[in-house]
Amino acid sequence: MMNARTVMLVLSLIVGLLSHSVNAQEALLLRPGKVFDGTEMRDAWVVLIRGDRIAAAGPYDQVQSPRGARIVELPGLTLLPGLIEGHSHLLLHPYDETPWTDQVLYESLGQRIARGVVHAEKTLMAGITTERDLGTEGAGYGDVGLKEAIELGVIPGPRLIVTTRAIVATGSYNPKGAPELSLPKGAEEADGHDDLIRITRDQIGRGADWVKIYADYRWGPGGTNRPSFTEQELRLVVDVAESSGRHVVAHANSVEAIRRSVMAGVKTIEHGDEADREVLQLMAERDVALCPTVAASDAIMQYRGWRKGVDSEPERIRQKKASFRLALEVGVPICFGGDVGVFAHGDNVRELELMVEYGMTPLAAVRAATSGNATILELDDRGEVREGLLADLIAVRGDPTANISALREVVMVMKGGVFYKSP
Ligand SMILES: [Zn+2]
Repeated sequence: MMNARTVMLVLSLIVGLLSHSVNAQEALLLRPGKVFDGTEMRDAWVVLIRGDRIAAAGPYDQVQSPRGARIVELPGLTLLPGLIEGHSHLLLHPYDETPWTDQVLYESLGQRIARGVVHAEKTLMAGITTERDLGTEGAGYGDVGLKEAIELGVIPGPRLIVTTRAIVATGSYNPKGAPELSLPKGAEEADGHDDLIRITRDQIGRGADWVKIYADYRWGPGGTNRPSFTEQELRLVVDVAESSGRHVVAHANSVEAIRRSVMAGVKTIEHGDEADREVLQLMAERDVALCPTVAASDAIMQYRGWRKGVDSEPERIRQKKASFRLALEVGVPICFGGDVGVFAHGDNVRELELMVEYGMTPLAAVRAATSGNATILELDDRGEVREGLLADLIAVRGDPTANISALREVVMVMKGGVFYKSP
């Protein structure tokens, strides 16, 4: 015989189970102050979430809210698509903590991956729900493992697009050491026809979503940027990658390496420090995007002793500003990608703040970080607040299209309809 207490317990268990199964189907209605939909700021919009998708988004009097939908009030907040970071290294940490060479040579793989786990969470909490990671810099295929662990729900982090080890030309990349030594490099060396085909395919087979190649490096006379691969070599890598349904991203600072990369068919150019008008025009014509990584240059110069706001601007910063402004003028698609890892993960917005400081409007910067990068990275299921897209959404205090630093005030993070930071 069950006593009353047991009956109550059983009943409450049944009710609990029922309400749980209802919750799994539950619709969620977000009512923010404003919505930035990826293109424009919208007033009086609501967003309905069902499962991992946006079921509806629009003016509150036009969106049918199902009975029993859970309503989440976000008064005074701006709701926008989760940000898409275009250039990170989750397996690196800031160079003023440990120089790059020492990270590559002396840190164990275990330590580096442990750091990567922490970095992934910080990145997500900063409102980055998708991130393209551009090379493990000596940490093998750790990025593939991080991506897997995030997808399986083992650790929190952004949706990752990974490149594994990246490809460099023999003799070009670091660490070097004494000429008698053959130190392990921060990326995988490959040269010439057969070798490049094999290494490109090998990285793809081990999990690369994009193939990253260093089209130049500081190996010219006096440490200047000079091309590392011939145009034919670059074209070969692009052919092999594209055959497999993947794009190529090129590290390139010198005009010649940018030109060769664009002609070879790469999709994005990273850094582009020395880009001139002519090569930027070529990029615009071929719809090749520039990830300017202005925050990395800003951080590195400060690590070298530049006191920003006190000392005059170093030549490298002046050059960076000039090439960035030229790129804007010429109409090159600008990717939001800061080379995070050089500076702290979670501080990704630093790149957007500097893009604005260098001449971009805050509106254009927020577009770059949402719908812009979704277009550049060909992610047609995200980057906008629109019916049918992934429910990757964040809420911030203030209006980032007026003040870009509002993106630092992230009070809600949702990825695939799940709250990682609750408002
Ligand atoms: Zn990088």
